[in-house]
Amino acid sequence: MADPVTVDSPSNAERRSALEALHAQVDACRRCAIGSTRTKVVCGVGLPSAKLVIVGEGPGENEDVQGEPFVGRAGELLTKMLAAIGLRREDVFITNTIKCRAIAEEGGRIANRAPMQEEIANCREYLDRELAIVAPRVILALGAPAAKSFLGAGFSITRQRGIWYAGPAGTDLMVTFHPAYILRQTGGNMPAVKKLVWSDLQSVRRRLDELASDRADPRPGAAQPAAPGPPLELKLDL
Ligand code: URA
Repeated sequence: MADPVTVDSPSNAERRSALEALHAQVDACRRCAIGSTRTKVVCGVGLPSAKLVIVGEGPGENEDVQGEPFVGRAGELLTKMLAAIGLRREDVFITNTIKCRAIAEEGGRIANRAPMQEEIANCREYLDRELAIVAPRVILALGAPAAKSFLGAGFSITRQRGIWYAGPAGTDLMVTFHPAYILRQTGGNMPAVKKLVWSDLQSVRRRLDELASDRADPRPGAAQPAAPGPPLELKLDL
């Protein structure tokens, strides 16, 4: 999604250095107990001026080790979901509601757990700052915890996903199922869930294309924004 940075918006380099400074602050953060149990903080990665920001739940085991979001199985599926709408990981910015791995002991071993409200609240400042630096046009929240962090604890992903909301700073916000949830579907449920996710992804693609064409300059010979992505004849093949 190559998009020329306009004269009065911060350059990629400025945004990148603001993100690096933020990363250093998050690295020093010990607001939650998981700040002391994590291996690495996992801040957002990708294009600092991306038009689309993806917000997941929080780092898992692989992300904790590598310090990068969505590098495990769910990440592989996210890469395919993006490819289905003509986007590469490096075209978007990928982050999470919390930046440290939330863990619990289960049967003598360490397992992932859902983030607690307090952890989401403690980390919210960092997510908001990432969003303010990148200033995307569209946010895609993956799964209930990410959706709830924007839309309130009463949000029901099964009943309320797939429609547009006003997210932080009024940014268009879409919610869809988390790739890990898709991977957990067995047999009968899988086609129905894939169909819903595909429909949500297509809405995101259309909105990005609409926003790109809104900025077209009607003057003859004027420089135009990058062409919209490929037509929606791609299909989600997970
Ligand atoms: N799941 C998430 O929500 N985020 C990650 O970074 C990885 C898996």
